[in-house]
Formats: sequence, C-alpha cells, structure tokens
Amino acid sequence: MKKHCAVLIKAVGVVQGVGFRPFVFNLAGKLHLYGFVRNTGFGAEIIVEGKKDDVVKFLSDLKKSKFKAEYTAQETAAKRYENFRIKESKKTPILSEFPSDLAMCNECKKELFSKNDRRHNYSFINCVNCGPRFSIIKKLPYDRKNTSMAKFKMCPACLAEYNNPKNRRFHAQPNACSVCGPQISLFDKNTKLISVKEKALKDAIKFLKSGKIVAVKGIGGYHLMCDASNINAVKLLRKRKNRPYKPFAVMADIKTAKKLCRVNKYEENELTSSKAPIVILEKKRKDKKLSALSANATLGVMLAYAPIHHLIIKEIPFLAATSGNRSDEPLSAREDEAFKNLSQIADYFLTHNREIENRSDDSIVRFLPNSGEKIIIRRSRGFVPEPLDINIADSVIAAGGDLKNNFCITRNAKTYMSQFVGDLANKSNMDFYAESIKKMASFLDVNPKTQMCDAHNGYASSQYFKNKFQKPKIVFHHYAHIASVIAEHNLKGNILGFAFDGNGLGEDGKIWGGEIVIFDGKNFSRAAHLDYFNLPGGDLCAQEIWRNAASLLHKYNFDSYIPKFFGKLNWRAAVKMIDSNINSFATSSMGRVFDAVSAILNIKTFAAFEAEGAIALEDAAWRALRKNNIAAEYDFEVKNDVIDLKKTFTGILSDLDNKIQKDIISLKFHNTIISVITACCKKFNAKTVALSGGVFQNMLLLSKTVEKLRKKKIKVYFNQKVPANDGGIALGQAYISKLASKNDKI
Ligand SMILES: [Zn+2]
Ligand SMILES: [Zn+2]
Repeated sequence: MKKHCAVLIKAVGVVQGVGFRPFVFNLAGKLHLYGFVRNTGFGAEIIVEGKKDDVVKFLSDLKKSKFKAEYTAQETAAKRYENFRIKESKKTPILSEFPSDLAMCNECKKELFSKNDRRHNYSFINCVNCGPRFSIIKKLPYDRKNTSMAKFKMCPACLAEYNNPKNRRFHAQPNACSVCGPQISLFDKNTKLISVKEKALKDAIKFLKSGKIVAVKGIGGYHLMCDASNINAVKLLRKRKNRPYKPFAVMADIKTAKKLCRVNKYEENELTSSKAPIVILEKKRKDKKLSALSANATLGVMLAYAPIHHLIIKEIPFLAATSGNRSDEPLSAREDEAFKNLSQIADYFLTHNREIENRSDDSIVRFLPNSGEKIIIRRSRGFVPEPLDINIADSVIAAGGDLKNNFCITRNAKTYMSQFVGDLANKSNMDFYAESIKKMASFLDVNPKTQMCDAHNGYASSQYFKNKFQKPKIVFHHYAHIASVIAEHNLKGNILGFAFDGNGLGEDGKIWGGEIVIFDGKNFSRAAHLDYFNLPGGDLCAQEIWRNAASLLHKYNFDSYIPKFFGKLNWRAAVKMIDSNINSFATSSMGRVFDAVSAILNIKTFAAFEAEGAIALEDAAWRALRKNNIAAEYDFEVKNDVIDLKKTFTGILSDLDNKIQKDIISLKFHNTIISVITACCKKFNAKTVALSGGVFQNMLLLSKTVEKLRKKKIKVYFNQKVPANDGGIALGQAYISKLASKNDKI
C-alpha cells in the first residue's frame, strides 16, 4: 500500500441496529480518516482513506471490536474524500440482517434511575446498544419508519441525539423520551383506565405489593406478574391460570437470584447478557415459597430486561413472571387480545402504546453441570431472528413439529429459526404459526423453493404445508432430530444418533421414540430401537403415566405388581385394551419408559404437565447421586436391533421388594440408560455420536452420557443452539432437504 491509501472493507454479520456505524464513524474520526460507512444487503461497507498507518490501525481496531462480523478488506482507488460520513443504506435486492431484541444496557439503566436525567423513570429508554428490535419491526430494512415507532415523531432533543454520530442514540431507531415517545397506562380488568405515565407505574407497583395480579406488557408480549414472595398471590395466579403444578418462571434482581439459587459464572453471564433469557437454576434450598413457584429442584429465573421491568423490580425484587396467555395459547401481544384472554386472570393491565409487531416468548436456556456448555430449551426473544451460521441451501422452509413449534427458513448461507410458536393442536397457535410464516418469509424476501414437513400426516404443521405448497417433502421425526445436531455442529462422516423422546411417527408406521439412528453422510436409517410396548389409550399415556408402567409390567409378565401399584386406578381396562388391541398403539418411546419408572416408584402416577414424571424421576436421581454417587445399574440386553429392558424392570422390582430407596433406584435406572447408549456405541463402533430428543433435556442423563462417551474418546454432540425437543426439528428437516436433493441427482 502507498503512504496515502484507501481501503474498501466489507463487514458481514450482525452489524445493523447494533451501533456499528456510529462506532465506525467515531473510530475513523479518531484516526483522521475520511470516507464513509453504509449498510448494505450483506451487512455494511466502509471506505476509509488516509495515512497508511492509520488505515492499518483502523482495521485492527475494527477487528477487535465487539461486533459479531467478519471483515474483508481490499485496496481501492483514493478519491480524496473531504470528511467521513454515514451514508444512506445501499439499495440492494438482498435484504439486510435484522436484529434481535436487546435487554436494557447499563448506561440506559443509569439514566433511568438518575433523577436529573430527562428520561428518569421513563419506561421506553433505549439506545443504539439496547432496546426493542425484532419485536417492533414491520418490515425491513430496519429503519424507524418501518417499525411501530413510526407514529411517534421525535422531539427536537431526541432528534438531535438521533442525528448526532457522537451520541449513543445516533440512529437508535426506537429513540424516544417522555415528551415524544410511547407511554404506559394502567387499566383494571374491565378496561377502565386507572392512571397513566409515572402514576400508572406507581399504582401497578402498589397493586403488586398488595398481592394483585398484573398483566405487564413488555417487549415480546405480556407477562402475568405477581409478587413471588407472596405465596397467596402465587397460589391465586395458579388457580386463575388453571395451572396447578407447572413451574412459573420468576423475574428477580441478581442479588435475589443468587440468594435463592446456585448461580455459576456461566449462568450469571447468561442472565446478565443482552439476550436476557430465563436460565434454569438449581434451587439452593427447599422452602415453601419456592416450592409454590416450582415443585422441581430447579427454578427458571430471568432478570429485568425492559426498562419497565427494572422500574418494577427495584420496588419488588422477586416476581412471578409467567407468559401472558391462557394455558397453551399464544402469548398475548395486543391490548385487545390481552383484555380478552387475560381478564379472568389479571386484576390490572399495565400496558403501553408501542405496538408489538412480532410477539416472542422469553427464551429458556440451561447449562450442563460442570462443563458450562449451554443448551437452549426455548429459542425465542433475544435469540430470534439472529440467523444461525448454518449453510444448508437457499430458500428452504421447514415446518417443524406440532409440539413446541419453531419453524425455519434458510436464505443464502444462513438459517433463520422462527420464534417459539407453541403447540399447534391449539387453533390460535395455528393462526400465529401461519401469520409468523408469512411474516418471516416476507422479512427475508424468500419464496421458499423447497418445503419440508414431518412425516406424520396428522400433524397440523404437515397439513398446513400440504395445503399451502404443492409437494412438501416429508421427513421422519427422529431423523430430523439427529439431523438437527449434525447441522448445528456441521458434522461429517458416519454418525450414530440417539433420538430419545416422547413420540414421533416412524418409518414402519409405529410410534417411535427410543431410536438409534445411523447416518452415513447420505442417508439416515434405523440401527436399533427400544423394544416395542403398547400405549393403552394412546396419547392419554403422556398424562396418565401409570398406563405406561402397567403396559411394561404386563409385557414383561409382572402382572401381579400391577394391582399392587395401581389398584385404585382402572388398570384392568388398560390391560384389556392391550390384550384386545383396541385403542392401543405400539411404541418404542424412551420418554414413556421414564414415565413408567416414575409411576412404578410412585414418584408420579399422573403428569400434570409435560414430562412431570420424568423431571421428578431425574430430581430423585440427583439426590441419590449427590449423596452416594453410586455407579450401580441394572441389566439389559441388546438383541440384534432391539433393546430389551426386561432385566432392567426385573431389577427395579427386586430393589423395590428389598426396600431400596427410590432415589437410588432412580439413579440406577439413569445409569442403565447411559449404559444402553455406550453399549450401542460399542456395537456399532461409533466414533461420533449425536444426542437429541426431549429426553436429553434430562441434565443427569445428558451430562453423564457426555462425560462417559468423552472418557471413551468418542466425539459426542448435542443440541445447543436449537432445542433438543421438537422446537429443534425444523432445523433437521431443513438439513435433510440438502440430502434429498443430493439423492435426486444420484
Ligand atoms: Zn442503552
Ligand atoms: Zn423526545
């Protein structure tokens, strides 16, 4: 390079809506460089011109900056620019990245609580480093006029900040203040206005303190909140939400979170990150108040992320904060929805007039004990729509599953997972699904060339795809699970996959769920599976989990135990269903086996929410592990391609007869399943293993399996960026589209 030179730099990655251009502007100014920066379809481009040393320094500082981007630089003709400018976005046919919602930053927090600041106590304070993004976007590019902030005209003070490249609010699209921006209002459940602005906040806090339930509009939707230290308020919320047992998430300040739960450094980083998800933490102690929130050994905790949350949390440091929906319905995001759906639950509504364009629930993450590896349980607010760097093929849309649905769309070399949609059996979730697909395709400007859906014809998502598209390709559920891990980690070569979940349609028309899958780089096939047993009553077995136990006891000729364990229940009818093959379905489901053991141990005979039996069984195993760390296990057999657990159940019953503690039996059962996995690895000579399916949300099973396989020098991978449950299968379906097209050519 000559002494005076000009360089064109392309930044590809998340550089829009995150303060990139002001950063570049200031950096160029500091180094006396001229030129410009502008957003483009791929990210941003910069031309800097000046002394060579300064240009080099500029590049190195840029590369060290916090932005998640890759930079390429090439010398270009010097044009003798007279200043450094931020130019209008370059119009390109490819749409730009679009950013995820960001939790309030510390600088804004300082201002929010500073009496002299002009945004003191203002619920919509934000800057270029924080605030709503995805949730307010109507269309791209991400400019104020394309967001729900368009209707608020900036006051002179806000506009000056917005136009000043040296200001933290330079081009902060949702920039606002109490003079010009959105406002909060408090209504009672009959939609009568109680108060507005700061008075509304004060009143809401007063009501929360007095044990009332308040629906609070946040970033991606409403929360139903109550004072979590008030056990009666929590009980009232449970009663009104018709959710007697399923854990509530809480919102707390970090001090309270640490007082109640163990928080390691990974968890603390995640809690305080700009994504601000719910982190599943281990409770420190058993106490009534915590048990009312979650009967499990864990508690889902998030910190305040919107300014309004911070203002409330400052007064009430511990809030139950559950999604503002009726059971299994979509999160309410609009006022009319909230009033309609939540008026039987909430006493008051703390709402505001900045519309939520894209609703998204709180995301949920968890960390593997010891290793600090993060897994996502629900991928939504904060993570969406930031794309995954997974290059599948251009413009594929994948439907996902029917439970905990997320769908996905690919564009160029990126994969965009949708926000959490939920269970599609529910009609309003189905509307949300259709609406979100339409929006996401339009945001990304993708007209999907390839469409993928689950092989189960009864899935609402499959039906939707079959109606909407000519010929969607079908993917078997458990192959999609394993493919999601392969896609996430870009795995090559032969993979042995363990897909353990509740249920999914298999290639033989039966309900699979305990599957050992081989991927040879081109095709998936079933290598082995749990021995089939019957589900008397079909889907009922996921709630009445004793049915799985009765079925397995019957299968293994332990009939005498059935009335002993389930004498008060209608076990005779269940057995009859199996014997007469009426309303009884063969399954290889691992999830149902966990349920069965939970029921046999009388830990749970019914599951009030999904996987309640398995979670309680896991908690029991952890207790034993912490106390005794026993490595004992039960026998099992792998006969050809069938895993036979008869000996396992024989051992469990014998331990029960010998009055062995349930916690220990539970741990031995977990150890057994881990050994099933290692035995299969040996049998199939596995070098690389993928674990997926909802059963692997069992942290004891996952972490111990991973530990054991790594000790054996087997490479083991599991879902981290998409959920191991059905929320991740859209990614696997999309990945398989690549194989299908490869196969077509062969
Ligand atoms: Zn900020
Ligand atoms: Zn203003």
